[in-house]
Amino acid sequence: MKLCFATNNAHKAEEVAALLGPPLQIQTLTQIGCHVDIPETGDTLEANSLLKAQYVFEHYGVDCFADDTGLEVAALDGAPGVVSARYAGEHKNSQDNIDLLLGNLRHHTNRSAQFKAVITLILNGVVHQFEGIVRGQIIEKQRGSMGFGYDSVFVPDGYNTTFAEMTLDQKSTVSHRARAVEKLVVFLQNM
Ligand code: IMP
Repeated sequence: MKLCFATNNAHKAEEVAALLGPPLQIQTLTQIGCHVDIPETGDTLEANSLLKAQYVFEHYGVDCFADDTGLEVAALDGAPGVVSARYAGEHKNSQDNIDLLLGNLRHHTNRSAQFKAVITLILNGVVHQFEGIVRGQIIEKQRGSMGFGYDSVFVPDGYNTTFAEMTLDQKSTVSHRARAVEKLVVFLQNM
Protein backbone atom coordinates (compact mmCIF):
# COMPACT_ATOMS: atom_id res chain seq x y z
CA MET A 1 0.00 0.00 0.00
CA LYS A 2 1.31 3.45 -0.93
CA LEU A 3 0.88 6.31 1.48
CA CYS A 4 2.21 9.82 1.04
CA PHE A 5 3.96 11.38 4.03
CA ALA A 6 3.55 15.14 3.61
CA THR A 7 7.12 16.10 4.42
CA ASN A 8 10.37 16.91 2.68
CA ASN A 9 12.38 16.49 5.86
CA ALA A 10 14.60 13.52 4.98
CA HIS A 11 15.37 12.82 8.66
CA LYS A 12 11.70 12.52 9.52
CA ALA A 13 10.88 10.47 6.43
CA GLU A 14 13.65 8.04 7.36
CA GLU A 15 12.48 7.80 10.98
CA VAL A 16 8.88 7.19 10.00
CA ALA A 17 9.64 4.75 7.16
CA ALA A 18 11.70 2.68 9.63
CA LEU A 19 8.80 2.68 12.09
CA LEU A 20 6.14 1.77 9.55
CA GLY A 21 8.12 -0.88 7.66
CA PRO A 22 6.85 -2.95 4.73
CA PRO A 23 4.28 -3.55 3.22
CA LEU A 24 3.62 0.21 3.54
CA GLN A 25 5.49 2.23 0.95
CA ILE A 26 6.07 5.79 2.02
CA GLN A 27 6.26 8.50 -0.61
CA THR A 28 7.51 11.97 0.27
CA LEU A 29 6.13 15.18 -1.23
CA THR A 30 8.94 15.30 -3.79
CA GLN A 31 8.14 11.75 -4.87
CA ILE A 32 4.52 12.69 -5.68
CA GLY A 33 5.73 15.80 -7.54
CA CYS A 34 4.80 18.35 -4.87
CA HIS A 35 7.48 21.00 -4.41
CA VAL A 36 5.43 23.45 -2.40
CA ASP A 37 6.32 24.52 1.12
CA ILE A 38 2.79 23.95 2.45
CA PRO A 39 1.79 26.95 4.62
CA GLU A 40 1.40 26.16 8.32
CA THR A 41 -0.95 28.95 9.36
CA GLY A 42 -2.82 27.15 12.14
CA ASP A 43 -2.26 28.01 15.76
CA THR A 44 -2.24 24.46 17.08
CA LEU A 45 -0.30 21.33 16.14
CA GLU A 46 -3.61 19.62 15.31
CA ALA A 47 -4.63 22.41 12.90
CA ASN A 48 -1.26 22.51 11.14
CA SER A 49 -0.99 18.78 10.64
CA LEU A 50 -4.57 18.80 9.25
CA LEU A 51 -3.70 21.70 6.89
CA LYS A 52 -0.76 19.78 5.42
CA ALA A 53 -2.66 16.52 4.94
CA GLN A 54 -5.63 18.37 3.45
CA TYR A 55 -3.39 20.20 0.98
CA VAL A 56 -2.00 16.93 -0.35
CA PHE A 57 -5.39 15.23 -0.48
CA GLU A 58 -7.04 18.15 -2.27
CA HIS A 59 -4.24 18.74 -4.81
CA TYR A 60 -3.04 15.18 -5.47
CA GLY A 61 -6.00 13.01 -4.44
CA VAL A 62 -3.83 10.43 -2.68
CA ASP A 63 -4.10 8.80 0.74
CA CYS A 64 -1.67 10.66 2.95
CA PHE A 65 -0.62 11.67 6.40
CA ALA A 66 1.15 14.70 7.81
CA ASP A 67 2.67 15.44 11.16
CA ASP A 68 3.26 18.56 13.14
CA THR A 69 5.49 18.64 16.17
CA GLY A 70 6.30 21.08 18.90
CA LEU A 71 8.60 21.30 21.86
CA GLU A 72 6.57 22.54 24.83
CA VAL A 73 8.61 23.93 27.72
CA ALA A 74 6.82 24.26 31.06
CA ALA A 75 8.76 27.29 32.38
CA LEU A 76 8.06 29.13 29.11
CA ASP A 77 4.30 28.50 29.25
CA GLY A 78 4.46 25.89 26.51
CA ALA A 79 6.73 27.82 24.12
CA PRO A 80 8.09 27.35 21.53
CA GLY A 81 5.18 24.96 20.84
CA VAL A 82 3.58 25.39 17.46
CA VAL A 83 6.34 27.78 16.31
CA SER A 84 9.19 25.40 17.25
CA ALA A 85 10.66 25.41 13.72
CA ARG A 86 10.80 29.21 13.52
CA TYR A 87 11.29 30.13 17.19
CA ALA A 88 14.27 32.40 16.39
CA GLY A 89 12.87 33.62 13.07
CA GLU A 90 11.53 32.66 9.67
CA HIS A 91 14.94 31.42 8.51
CA LYS A 92 14.19 28.27 10.60
CA ASN A 93 17.71 27.71 11.88
CA SER A 94 18.05 24.96 14.48
CA GLN A 95 21.15 26.38 16.14
CA ASP A 96 19.55 29.82 16.50
CA ASN A 97 16.41 28.18 17.93
CA ILE A 98 18.47 26.28 20.50
CA ASP A 99 20.48 29.37 21.46
CA LEU A 100 17.27 31.34 22.02
CA LEU A 101 15.71 28.52 24.02
CA LEU A 102 18.74 28.12 26.30
CA GLY A 103 18.92 31.90 26.71
CA ASN A 104 15.26 32.12 27.69
CA LEU A 105 15.70 29.28 30.19
CA ARG A 106 18.90 30.67 31.71
CA HIS A 107 17.32 31.74 34.99
CA HIS A 108 14.84 28.87 35.29
CA THR A 109 15.36 25.83 37.48
CA ASN A 110 12.29 24.06 36.11
CA ARG A 111 13.66 22.48 32.91
CA SER A 112 10.68 20.19 32.22
CA ALA A 113 9.58 19.92 28.61
CA GLN A 114 7.77 17.63 26.25
CA PHE A 115 7.78 16.92 22.56
CA LYS A 116 4.30 16.48 21.17
CA ALA A 117 3.60 15.11 17.71
CA VAL A 118 0.23 15.09 16.01
CA ILE A 119 -0.34 12.98 12.92
CA THR A 120 -3.30 13.55 10.65
CA LEU A 121 -4.17 10.69 8.31
CA ILE A 122 -6.57 11.14 5.42
CA LEU A 123 -7.61 7.75 4.18
CA ASN A 124 -10.36 7.41 1.58
CA GLY A 125 -11.24 11.02 2.34
CA VAL A 126 -11.76 10.46 6.07
CA VAL A 127 -9.66 12.33 8.66
CA HIS A 128 -8.06 10.59 11.66
CA GLN A 129 -5.64 12.10 14.21
CA PHE A 130 -3.05 10.44 16.45
CA GLU A 131 -0.92 12.01 19.19
CA GLY A 132 2.43 11.06 20.72
CA ILE A 133 4.16 12.70 23.68
CA VAL A 134 7.57 12.22 25.29
CA ARG A 135 8.44 14.06 28.49
CA GLY A 136 11.94 15.07 29.53
CA GLN A 137 14.32 17.85 30.51
CA ILE A 138 16.13 20.63 28.68
CA ILE A 139 19.81 20.51 29.61
CA GLU A 140 22.07 23.56 29.84
CA LYS A 141 24.63 22.63 27.18
CA GLN A 142 24.15 20.81 23.90
CA ARG A 143 25.31 17.18 23.73
CA GLY A 144 25.48 14.84 20.74
CA SER A 145 25.51 15.27 17.00
CA MET A 146 22.82 12.95 15.67
CA GLY A 147 19.22 13.80 14.89
CA PHE A 148 17.96 17.31 14.23
CA GLY A 149 16.10 20.27 15.71
CA TYR A 150 16.25 20.41 19.51
CA ASP A 151 17.61 16.85 19.89
CA SER A 152 20.93 17.95 21.42
CA VAL A 153 19.29 19.69 24.42
CA PHE A 154 16.50 17.20 25.20
CA VAL A 155 16.98 14.27 27.60
CA PRO A 156 13.89 12.05 27.74
CA ASP A 157 12.72 10.91 31.20
CA GLY A 158 14.40 7.66 32.24
CA TYR A 159 17.54 8.27 30.16
CA ASN A 160 20.88 10.04 30.67
CA THR A 161 21.50 10.74 27.00
CA THR A 162 20.06 13.42 24.75
CA PHE A 163 18.16 12.43 21.62
CA ALA A 164 21.23 13.59 19.69
CA GLU A 165 23.37 10.98 21.49
CA MET A 166 20.98 8.16 20.54
CA THR A 167 21.00 6.10 17.39
CA LEU A 168 17.89 6.27 15.27
CA ASP A 169 16.81 2.88 16.69
CA GLN A 170 17.20 4.09 20.28
CA LYS A 171 15.36 7.34 19.61
CA SER A 172 12.60 5.38 17.92
CA THR A 173 11.86 3.40 21.06
CA VAL A 174 10.83 6.52 22.99
CA SER A 175 10.19 9.44 20.70
CA HIS A 176 6.96 11.41 20.42
CA ARG A 177 6.87 10.68 16.69
CA ALA A 178 7.37 6.95 17.30
CA ARG A 179 4.47 6.96 19.75
CA ALA A 180 2.17 8.74 17.31
CA VAL A 181 3.28 6.50 14.42
CA GLU A 182 2.69 3.43 16.59
CA LYS A 183 -0.95 4.51 16.93
CA LEU A 184 -1.12 5.08 13.16
CA VAL A 185 0.29 1.59 12.53
CA VAL A 186 -2.19 -0.07 14.89
CA PHE A 187 -5.01 1.81 13.17
CA LEU A 188 -3.86 0.76 9.69
CA GLN A 189 -3.40 -2.85 10.78
CA ASN A 190 -6.94 -3.03 12.12
CA MET A 191 -8.67 -1.55 9.09
P1 IMP B 1 7.71 19.61 12.55
O1 IMP B 1 6.37 20.18 12.70
O2 IMP B 1 7.74 18.14 12.76
O3 IMP B 1 8.43 20.05 11.31
O4 IMP B 1 8.59 20.14 13.75
C1 IMP B 1 8.73 21.51 14.04
C2 IMP B 1 10.06 21.73 14.71
O5 IMP B 1 10.11 21.02 15.95
C3 IMP B 1 11.26 21.22 13.91
O6 IMP B 1 11.72 22.18 13.02
C4 IMP B 1 12.27 20.96 15.00
O7 IMP B 1 12.90 22.15 15.38
C5 IMP B 1 11.40 20.49 16.14
N1 IMP B 1 11.33 19.01 16.18
C6 IMP B 1 10.36 18.22 15.65
N2 IMP B 1 10.64 16.92 15.88
C7 IMP B 1 11.81 16.92 16.53
C8 IMP B 1 12.63 15.86 17.03
O8 IMP B 1 12.35 14.66 16.91
N3 IMP B 1 13.76 16.25 17.64
C9 IMP B 1 14.12 17.55 17.80
N4 IMP B 1 13.41 18.55 17.35
C10 IMP B 1 12.25 18.24 16.72
